Amino acid sequence: MTPTPTDFSALPLAPHVLANLTQLGYTQMTPIQAASLPVALLGKDLIAQAKTGSGKTAAFGIALLANLNARRFAVQSVVLCPTRELADQVATEIRRLARAEENIKVVVLCGGVPLRNQTASLENGAHIVVGTPGRIMDHLARGNLTLEALNTLVLDEADRMLDMGFFDDICTVARQCPKERQTLLFSATYPEGIEKLSHQFMKAPQTITVQAQHEKT
Ligand code: ADP
Ligand code: MG
Repeated sequence: MTPTPTDFSALPLAPHVLANLTQLGYTQMTPIQAASLPVALLGKDLIAQAKTGSGKTAAFGIALLANLNARRFAVQSVVLCPTRELADQVATEIRRLARAEENIKVVVLCGGVPLRNQTASLENGAHIVVGTPGRIMDHLARGNLTLEALNTLVLDEADRMLDMGFFDDICTVARQCPKERQTLLFSATYPEGIEKLSHQFMKAPQTITVQAQHEKT
């Protein structure tokens, strides 16, 4: 059978990645995944907007894992999230997506807990960091975290991060990332600030919007 464009098998993904998606019960791509993954897997910058619950985590999770070299013991991607709760959810989903790979370490860095354990986790080696901008900046400033090996920067729930006043913090983290990298911005809504944010540090991003069914005209 020829794969339709909504089959994950239409994407340039390794067989073990596809097998894991099937095991997770992900048989078809959601609309935002079908629209964003072909672009993201080409290494392009992306602004993707779709409502909550539309599968945005796997959209960027699959893309950042495709850029990852598990044998390189360095942080290769950072996902910025507005809250600890969301960071924990994103880390859980990335771990599920990564479970067919050899030992990929995902470390969550959020405020409200002592730095010590997080510092120890970073010292033990992390491939992916998921966290809030403030705490990630803190670890950068202390030299606990370096982003020289980063290839993918993700801004998740960018609208909420803007609402929470993280604009400058996001820019500070982005400035510490290598210029040669992919930046993926995901959001449930598209307020004005998103464009302004993207102008700061994204390279000719492609904008993808998936409207909710009832919003269609
Ligand atoms: P969003 O970030 O857009 O709010 P999530 O990434 O949290 O959405 O995904 C919502 C739910 O959909 C999660 O429970 C996730 O496991 C599930 N999901 C994601 N992609 C797929 C898929 N292709 N098929 C089935 N379920 C999926
Ligand atoms: Mg989400």
